[in-house]
Amino acid sequence: MTNPLEIAIVGAGMAGIVCARELQAAGQQGIAIFEKSRGVGGRLTTRRMFDTCVDRGTCYISPKGAEFQSLFDRLIAANIVEIWTDTTHTLTAAGEILADPDLYPRYVTPNGMNQIAKYLATDLDLRCGQRAISIVPDGNLWRLKLEGTESAEILTRQVILAIPAPQAVDLLAPLADILPGEFLAALKAVDFYPSIAIAAGYTPIQLAEWETAYPQVKAVTCTDDPILAWLGVDSSKRHQPAPPAFVLQSTAKFAAKYPHPEDTAAASLAMLERASDRFLPWFRESQWQQPHLWRYAFPKSPRVDDFLSIDLPAPLFCTGDWCRGRKVEDAYLAGLAVANAIRG
Ligand SMILES: Cc1cc2nc3c(=O)[nH]c(=O)nc-3n(C[C@H](O)[C@H](O)[C@H](O)COP(=O)(O)OP(=O)(O)OC[C@H]3O[C@@H](n4cnc5c(N)ncnc54)[C@H](O)[C@@H]3O)c2cc1C
Repeated sequence: MTNPLEIAIVGAGMAGIVCARELQAAGQQGIAIFEKSRGVGGRLTTRRMFDTCVDRGTCYISPKGAEFQSLFDRLIAANIVEIWTDTTHTLTAAGEILADPDLYPRYVTPNGMNQIAKYLATDLDLRCGQRAISIVPDGNLWRLKLEGTESAEILTRQVILAIPAPQAVDLLAPLADILPGEFLAALKAVDFYPSIAIAAGYTPIQLAEWETAYPQVKAVTCTDDPILAWLGVDSSKRHQPAPPAFVLQSTAKFAAKYPHPEDTAAASLAMLERASDRFLPWFRESQWQQPHLWRYAFPKSPRVDDFLSIDLPAPLFCTGDWCRGRKVEDAYLAGLAVANAIRG
């Protein structure tokens, strides 16, 4: 086995990436990020499909605090993000579409939201296709077992689990005998809502009908709908003329009825049927559709601190959006806080 890493980060979502980036910028060496998927971003994801790219996770970002806004100022200067709209809409139970009055800019990335993660991950030691399957103490180090494109075991002086709390519980539950009870209990207390997100393609004529029926409407939150939570005109984010594509997100209650990835095709039909009833009749006749089940979409009961940590046998941190809220900004601030805690 080679020399131990200084810091192993599990999860290349916003929290893991920003943490690694801050530590590396402060001169810390020996950091590697292990990510089970093929690419970076986690729920800040983009998929290429049907001659376009579609954001089935985070659809836009609207910074609220000064620290996150300053990241966005840099992303704007680097031509990574731009304003998509400053007005989103709400579909009421009665079928009325109302403009939301907040007028915050909603930022998107014309080439897909995961460009933000890719940009922030430049120069990091990223090991994608590597799922952490166990963590055990080894002397005064942690031993991390990995499975994937390369199966391996590594030793590390510190571990950061930048993954949804239930996935951290899966990894840490076998250590129940040695971990402080309150630490595992605090992790177990954080539950997540599921969501099903569909990308669906339509014809240019259908898109023109949408624009006539709903002028300037790019994103709609559906209040009090049992099936649909949100709908967005995804192709309106793209610069080059892109095949018309919409993204629809389900409510948590609806997604809970379809807990297995193989059920998502049936869920997708029901969601498009519902969009036909609530918006325009042709939603059920999509040219193509691609559903995705997010088992851990949004934290149900986020914590109000930045991370959970123990020091046994060596430092271990758990962090992610769920430590502060439900958004990319929360993941960013949580990851930053872990980096600050390690830097001291
Ligand atoms: C459908 C949807 C729409 C959303 N819309 C918005 C929005 O419009 N605006 C907004 O601000 N936020 C939105 N969010 C929330 C936002 O995506 C999250 O808050 C944020 O991306 C969470 O980042 P994170 O780093 O905490 O976790 P994640 O992005 O979940 O990253 C965790 C990473 O860890 C990896 N991982 C997990 N377990 C392991 C393991 N054992 N080994 C290796 N890797 C592992 C995962 O593959 C993942 O890449 C949305 C989320 C969803 C699902």
